[in-house]
Amino acid sequence: MNDEPLTLSRSVEDYLKVIYALTERGEPASTSSIAEGLDVQPASVSGMVKRLAEAGFVEHLPYKGVRLTEGGTREALKIVRRHRILETYLSERLDYSWDDVHAEAERLEHAASDELIERMAAALEDPRHDPHGAPIPTPAGDVETTNYATLAEVAEGDEVEIRAVSDDDSELLRFLESRGLMPRVRLVVEERDPFEGPITLKLAGPGGALQRLGVDLARRIYVAPVRKTGGDE
Ligand SMILES: [Zn+2]
Repeated sequence: MNDEPLTLSRSVEDYLKVIYALTERGEPASTSSIAEGLDVQPASVSGMVKRLAEAGFVEHLPYKGVRLTEGGTREALKIVRRHRILETYLSERLDYSWDDVHAEAERLEHAASDELIERMAAALEDPRHDPHGAPIPTPAGDVETTNYATLAEVAEGDEVEIRAVSDDDSELLRFLESRGLMPRVRLVVEERDPFEGPITLKLAGPGGALQRLGVDLARRIYVAPVRKTGGDE
């Protein structure tokens, strides 16, 4: 292994992170989706993607955009680790609310040294998930695979546990919190209206009221099925 640390520019880090996030959600990293994720014009994306390909971080997939190479994935996971450790530290140690940590971590992730990040991780006793439920990669670049479905895909009558939610929209996070829709909460999908209509759900446990959620919102909530353990729950 090369012991000379590789210093990437802030924009390269942001590109790798966005491409990783798209892949993590199972979406193709096309020019338009990268542009949308970075909030820039598609025209400016093409040039940078070309440079990333020349540097060996991404490779082109015919008609689908790009995907990270092994080296690109390794660099992306480093940035993702920084981001998620920062979010967790801000939330757990500095009492930031979960809708404030993302923007702060976006700023700090490019500036914090590896030493600072690892000291934060140690102070937190190596957290596995960030405040939004996303897995934190290890320093070696291992990360839990998350093949979560979204709440929009859950069949009527199924019980699921919320595992993660989109982290980049503060307004959405405040709304989800007000409805009690946070990681580790369990719920049952009572009814799905046809034609992309709203989903009616009920939080598990006593006193869980029925609530309706638009399908667009449900797509930003990641869930896993609850394994029935038998007995009367
Ligand atoms: Zn975040």
